[in-house]
Parts: sequence; structure tokens; C-alpha cells
Amino acid sequence: MATLLVKNARMLITMDDQRRKYRNAGLFARDHLIEQIGPSETLPEYADTVIDASNLVILPGLVNTHHHFFQSLFRAIPGAQDHSLFDWLARLMPLYGDVTEEAVYIASLTAMSEMILSGCTTSSDHLYLYPGGKTIDVQVRAAREIGLRFHATRGAISVGESQGGMTPDNLVQTEDEILRDCERILAVHHNPGLFSMIRIGLAPCTPFTVTKKLMRETAKLARSGCNVGLHTHVAETKDEEKYCLDQFDQRPAEYMQEVGWVGADVWWAHSIFLNHDEIQMLAKTRTGVAHCPSSNMRLGSGICPVRDMLDAGVNVAIGVDGSASNDTGHLFNEARTAVLLQRVVNGADAFTIEEGLHLATRGGAAVLGRANEIGSLQPGKAADFIGVDLDTLSMAGGAVHDPAAALLLCHVDRVNLSVINGKVVVQGGELLTIDVDRIVARHNSLAGGLVARHPLAGQLTNKGCKLSSL
Ligand SMILES: [Zn+2]
Repeated sequence: MATLLVKNARMLITMDDQRRKYRNAGLFARDHLIEQIGPSETLPEYADTVIDASNLVILPGLVNTHHHFFQSLFRAIPGAQDHSLFDWLARLMPLYGDVTEEAVYIASLTAMSEMILSGCTTSSDHLYLYPGGKTIDVQVRAAREIGLRFHATRGAISVGESQGGMTPDNLVQTEDEILRDCERILAVHHNPGLFSMIRIGLAPCTPFTVTKKLMRETAKLARSGCNVGLHTHVAETKDEEKYCLDQFDQRPAEYMQEVGWVGADVWWAHSIFLNHDEIQMLAKTRTGVAHCPSSNMRLGSGICPVRDMLDAGVNVAIGVDGSASNDTGHLFNEARTAVLLQRVVNGADAFTIEEGLHLATRGGAAVLGRANEIGSLQPGKAADFIGVDLDTLSMAGGAVHDPAAALLLCHVDRVNLSVINGKVVVQGGELLTIDVDRIVARHNSLAGGLVARHPLAGQLTNKGCKLSSL
């Protein structure tokens, strides 16, 4: 059994119920579990691996609850930089049909690298594109190679343009195909056990890109298994609210209740346009929310009422959302933005730094149904933790006065140390498991090719983009 000792950390932040922090401290782990935490002198003297963390603040690994890894191929695309959600989708969707399985794999490794280096040790992803027989299997392979704890959620689109939807028909699958593949990947990849590294969730793209029948069938399939989460976008924009009222004569949250998509096994992305009663309903049913502030600001969608949600007892977490609507994937920055955005709405004293850290750690663990396994540093929990170097330019000053607050008030460039499931994945600020430079080079070659080859490429400009008619 492998043992790991981290000692001499300048500060260790547990995020436990008492919010304990220790100076000159560390932890001792055996295999994938934490056994001891506390001041360095109270820890065992020897271990198979010993890490001197004297320049670091150690804290629980961050949890990302909403992303679309493949969209890193479409960052900053001209013609989709200054648009609200529906227009943005209309401009990007025609390009998505040419994404190959290799491109999903390389984009996943790219996005996962960015996640891990910015503090993430557990991430979900929402892959909703399956033209040309692609599968989610390549994402699971990527997560295993890089060493990320991964919730792969299987997206789906079944209502295409020819059925009155907004999605090009070549991106649509039949509902039989979708359900068969969901059953397959649950059988092949899903590990419902404690501390599992791979879990599968089921995740139609949005409630209005599949039928009501598929929403119900998906929930039924998920609930016939164990620890299978349900995830989708809900109440992201005012346009969506109007669309749901026109199509279904229901608000988005009402529709979700009708199709059975509420409960502790469900988390919604965005959830901006919810009224008081709907927020109370989320709390009562323990339905989670993935708050994605950068994407909401980038697309001009609105501001999620996170303060009201936390006050009502809703489980709220952080999501960086897809790289094409952010266009970055930095979890510390996303938690920082969440804090600042709530202060814009509610005042400077309305949202604390600690609440921001909570969203990114315990909030994420609760939303993914893993509150007993990850999200805080305690004996018996997973050895998922990160170390941030305090002796850096961007942390100078803050690192002296209040290292915990500096994590969000200053800027964390990248983590110095990341341990996931007891394995050292980042050390000295370098990812040990893959060659990032090689992945980025291949990623950029694929991204360039996808756009250059597309018949609409010449029309992708910021001004006068003809794709607006799509
Ligand atoms: Zn999204």
C-alpha cells in the first residue's frame, strides 16, 4: 500500500464543517484515502513519497460541474464573439458536424489539462454531439490517461431543423440510438462505487432539443441504475423562457418538474431565470445548480441568483461551461468571478471569499452526489488536493496577509501541486501524465482544419456574418 506525506505547508485549508485551517501543516494518505491531517509534527515521519510543501497553501481539489470539452476547438471564433445564446448556437452549430472522434479526444485532453492546472481534481463534461458514430468512450480514455476524476455526461439532441428545432439535422440522433448508447456506456464505463474515478451521467442537451418522451425515458434509465446523475441546461436565457412558454405553455422549471427532472440526482446548468417559488422547490427537492458566471456574462445571459439560492438551502456549484462561451477554463478564476458578480448585485458584503471557495469545493461535491468522498480534507475522504505556490508575483502581498482569501482575491496562475486519488498528477507546476505541448500542437492543427475546411468559413467574420440567418 503506497503512502504519501505532505508536510510543512504554510497553510492547510480543510473546508471541513468547522472550516479549520492549520499553519505549518500537512496530511498523510494511504493509497487513495486521507488518513491524517494536522500540524506537521503530529504526522508520521516516513512515507513512500514525501513532499515538502513549505511554499504552498494546500486545499481540497476544486470541482467543475459543467463543461463542454470539445468546444476548446472553437474558442474565439470570429462571427460568434458578440452574440447571445441562440445566435451564438446558430453560428457554431454548422461547424460542429465535422468534429472527429480524434478531435473530441484531443480537445478533451486539452480542456482537462487546463482544468487540472487551474485546480480541478474532479470534473464533469457534457458531450452532446455524436455525428458520424462518435462515442463518449474517447473522453473516458482521456480522463484515465491524464488521471482526472471524471463524470462524463452523455448529451443528446433528437429534435432537428426538419422537426422545427434549431439544430442542423446532421447533428441529431434518433431516440432509440440515444437510449441504446446510454445503456451501453453505463454498462461499460460507469462505476457507482465509493471513490470511483469514472461515473456516467445522462444529459439531453436542453429540455427543448429532445422530446418530452426522451426526457422521461432518460430519467427512468438513470434511476434504474445506481449513482447515475441527470444533467442539462435549464433557464439559461430570457429567450429560452419565452421559447418554453410559447412551446409548452410552461416556464422552464415547471417543465422540468413535469418530466421528473428534479431531485438529489439532478443538477441544472445556469438556472438564471427562476422565481422565488422555483428556488424553494430546488432546495426542497435537493436539485443542484452549476453556476457558470463567465459564460453568462460572455453571452449576456443574466446573473444567477446564487445568494438567494444559498439562503434557501440550494446546493450550488461552479461550472466553467464550454470553452466556446467562456473562452477559458480556469476554476479559481471562475470562483472569483462568482463572488464578484454576486457583489455587483447584492453589495460588497453580500458574498464572502469563503463562500466562493465553498462553491468550488464542497458545493461541487454535493452537486455531483459525492459529499462523503470529496470536497474537503478529512480522514476517510479521497486524497484529492492541490497546492498553490504563495511565493509568486500574482500572490505577492496577499500570500502574507491572508493566503486563503488571496486564492480568490489575487490570481492563481496555475497550481504547483495536484494529487488526485492519491496520485501526484502535477508537481512543480508541471502536468506529469501527458505531454501538454504535443497535445496543444495537435489541438490547434485540428481546430484550424475544422474551420478552414468548412464551406461557411469565409463568412465567419465579426461583422456581417451571414450565418445569422441560420
Ligand atoms: Zn453548457
